[in-house]
Amino acid sequence: MRSQGKTIVFVPTMGFLHDGHLSLMREGKTYGDDLVASIFVNPTQFAPGEDLASYPIDVERDLELIHDVGVDAVFIPDTNEMYGKNFQTYVNVEKLSNHLCGISRPIFFRGVATIVIKLFNIVKPHVAVFGQKDYQQLIVIRQMVRELDLDIEIVGAPTIREPDGLAMSSRNTYLTTDQRISALSLYQSMKKAQEAIEKGEQDATRIIDTTREFIQSRSDTEIDYISICDPDTLIDVKTIDKPVLMALAVKVGKARLIDNMILGS
Ligand code: AMP
Repeated sequence: MRSQGKTIVFVPTMGFLHDGHLSLMREGKTYGDDLVASIFVNPTQFAPGEDLASYPIDVERDLELIHDVGVDAVFIPDTNEMYGKNFQTYVNVEKLSNHLCGISRPIFFRGVATIVIKLFNIVKPHVAVFGQKDYQQLIVIRQMVRELDLDIEIVGAPTIREPDGLAMSSRNTYLTTDQRISALSLYQSMKKAQEAIEKGEQDATRIIDTTREFIQSRSDTEIDYISICDPDTLIDVKTIDKPVLMALAVKVGKARLIDNMILGS
């Protein structure tokens, strides 16, 4: 593709595709000539005890969906191919990785940055598309690309939701019918926060407290974090007087769900 002078757009995924992934691919097609996707459940971003072994996989179905979207090539490496036995080189985006998900998942962003740079070096894209659903991941990758001088444009694509507001995620498949209802509280509480801010609320702690109560009132929920922070540094904000990131991570049954919104803009 490169030797033909084509602009290559790349969408990395862990598979078990849903409309969120497919929207990244559709959007990706508008940024270049040829579209490459990858499917790889990356072991270095899972800590022991997390859901690496049970992460849902259905490559055949994924390939059908990918084909329908018009992807030009799919890269599906296996783990040995990506990480030899003596693998020991990692990329660490230090400060941004220490907030939000990095607190309860301390090796997660090191694993993400490392696999993404490896995939970039193999696929050699001009443009790569990532979802805003994983906001911290998106800005960690932007930081890595800038600081390691990678010649790749990073595009952030909007979060795709179910009609009732639940952010699409491969992990939603872990939810029972009742847990699926509890899971809606992430989106609902961010909408409530948005309304409060629109009415003039500026106290982040008060919004976080209301959100905590709201989510805890739903069955099977266990909050990892609720944060209102600066969208560039991820440092907590106390007074909301400019646009902020509201980010949540909540375990609902077996599924650890994350979601976020920019509020106050
Ligand atoms: P994953 O397969 O979960 O690693 O996700 C692969 C890519 O799809 C990442 O860039 C995610 O941010 C993106 N993605 C996942 N869920 C959604 C969603 N609901 N809307 C938009 N993008 C998403």
